[in-house]
Amino acid sequence: MATTRPARKSSKPADTPKRRAARRRAPTAELPDLSQYGQLAEYNRKRHFGVTPEPPGQASRREAGRPLQFVVQKHRASRLHYDFRLEHRGVMLSWAVPKAPSPDPSVKRLAMETEPHPMDYNQFEGVIPEGEYGGGTVMIWDKGFWAPITPDGQLGGEDEIDRQLRKGELKFVLLGEKLAGSWVLVRTRGTRQWLLIKHRDQYASAEDITVTKPLSLVSGRTMAEIAQAAGASPRQLQLAAAADPAAAPAAAATSARAKPRARARAARPS
Ligand code: MN
Repeated sequence: MATTRPARKSSKPADTPKRRAARRRAPTAELPDLSQYGQLAEYNRKRHFGVTPEPPGQASRREAGRPLQFVVQKHRASRLHYDFRLEHRGVMLSWAVPKAPSPDPSVKRLAMETEPHPMDYNQFEGVIPEGEYGGGTVMIWDKGFWAPITPDGQLGGEDEIDRQLRKGELKFVLLGEKLAGSWVLVRTRGTRQWLLIKHRDQYASAEDITVTKPLSLVSGRTMAEIAQAAGASPRQLQLAAAADPAAAPAAAATSARAKPRARARAARPS
């Protein structure tokens, strides 16, 4: 290419059919073939598995009859959000919910669809290093099982999930510790923007569960404790602590059983 620095105006040359075709060809010629990862190609492409403790993406197979998993991970990345993930066909379909799922049916929560994650990610709690994609502290905030609800009120299967996703309106039931009952995800515009809304049922509530139930479901830890155990940078530690509600228990007060798990995870080869 040209060795002279182009003037600002000319840094984006006029588009021609020839240039467009070259651009389309270029990626397949230069990038490794990720098709074996199927839906997880985007997940894998965004991460350096020699650096981040997150698991590499491989689709997994479900034993017949095992209920579908869901997980919600509280994630203090460049901004705080809650990653809402539903198992479907061997991967975790994912939405980033900035304000957390709300059990209040009058509240609609924005849910931005993100790349599907591997099932192994459901066990990830720790710190993504500075400079890596999604760098920051991750907590397993809730998890359990889920199923789609058919138009006639029955529990549906994978084909029903596909049908509702295409339609942009996924009705489902959650069986978690913090989130339960009937919910809906409604696509609003484009293909990636959805709203997550609680249906009225016995699990509906006006309680702010981000404040009343702020701890990790699996380790009982605060965000600050997770960050500390995983050797977060001072900046990440500060951001993690700020993501805990003011009333969250102090570091020393949490259960001792959380500590060995944290260490094992921190020591996991990456
Ligand atoms: Mn996230």
